[in-house]
Amino acid sequence: MKKILTLSVLWLLAIAGFAQRTLIHCGSLIDGKSKDIQSQVTIVVEAGKIVSLDKGFAKPGKDDKLIDLSKKTVMPGLIDMHVHVENETSKDNLVKRFTQNEADVAFQATVYAKKNLMAGFTTVRDCGGSGVNISIRNAINQGIVVGPRIFTAGKGVATTGGHGDPTNGSRKDLQGDPGPKEGVINGPEEAYKAVRQRYKDGADFIKITATGGVLSVAKDGSGPQFTQEEVNAIVLAAKDYGFHTAAHAHGAEGMKRAVLAGITTIEHGTLMSEEVMDLMKEKGTYLVPTIIAGRSAADYARIPGYYHPLVVPKALEIGSKIQENFGRAYKRGVKIAFGTDAGVFPHGENAREFGYMVEGGMPAIEALLSAMQVNANLLGVGDKIGSIEKGKLADIVAVNENPTTNIKTMEKVTFVMKEGVVYKNE
Ligand SMILES: [Zn+2]
Repeated sequence: MKKILTLSVLWLLAIAGFAQRTLIHCGSLIDGKSKDIQSQVTIVVEAGKIVSLDKGFAKPGKDDKLIDLSKKTVMPGLIDMHVHVENETSKDNLVKRFTQNEADVAFQATVYAKKNLMAGFTTVRDCGGSGVNISIRNAINQGIVVGPRIFTAGKGVATTGGHGDPTNGSRKDLQGDPGPKEGVINGPEEAYKAVRQRYKDGADFIKITATGGVLSVAKDGSGPQFTQEEVNAIVLAAKDYGFHTAAHAHGAEGMKRAVLAGITTIEHGTLMSEEVMDLMKEKGTYLVPTIIAGRSAADYARIPGYYHPLVVPKALEIGSKIQENFGRAYKRGVKIAFGTDAGVFPHGENAREFGYMVEGGMPAIEALLSAMQVNANLLGVGDKIGSIEKGKLADIVAVNENPTTNIKTMEKVTFVMKEGVVYKNE
């Protein structure tokens, strides 16, 4: 009996006590909250968490593991507020809708998700897919596949014929009449039903398509597509279930309605008026700029046959305006949350957005911080991720150069750790 007791105590000690410590020597450190860059810091990681942060390069004990990033700039894992892990741009995207089964989408999603992680994005918000995005979130959380931590909208919510109606562009007999379950609503009652369905599906937040969109097979890319009553109902229902809300919006009227309703983030914001900017400041609404998506769509539109003919003029017109508008919104004081729309361009190239933000007039350090603590707070996990601080999860990435003097260095992340596990160390 005594022996069994001793053995089980030893075993308990083994699982509870023997978590190896990892010491990370950081040449420079951006902590995710402060605009200051510290030099020569040691981060101590144990059991997936940051347990301490010390000035200078601490010597490792004999059981400690040392990771030498003394020549690198280290920062918290990046957070992208707008990706679509289920797909990626290609010339035959329209056809794929009719040829791919859910399993096909799931397999490719595992590859796309991993690309985000390897590019330094340890957390992403998935702004809409078929629902496979919920399964892949779960698979990553269970350790079945490798990928970033995902917060997902499941299927986004649209109105009939609007951006995100999954049957747009289909032959009539294939269109049917999608409803709240499929993410299409008409009227406040259905708005409630759609939000409740997302809750049942296991989504983390609600995404709506408040205006027309560039890549949907429909003529209009910017007009409002929800009534004020509908978007009010979405936001009110979302609050009941603890969801935050995001609205895709290119045109000012749809944006205004969403902001008035109390939406958390406006995605793209391409044709934002000064009236909307001021309203966003008043309401504390964030803009998720996705400049890279606008620029990429405009580039693809110049390749003959790449997009459906209805998409081309929208991509050329709207895509090219997105960066300029971002600059105006930033200067006017609209709060910015980093997000890219990865999937509209190849996954893993997300960090190009930093360069576009700087080009658009935002100081590099602010652009970087917008992908750190700012986004963690918006996701409701500001106490767990977003900065390098004692007690936070060990989501840590590194680049070769100082990104405030060369923002392009963000495109070559050389070290990725998520919850204490190293996925990349070049
Ligand atoms: Zn999107």
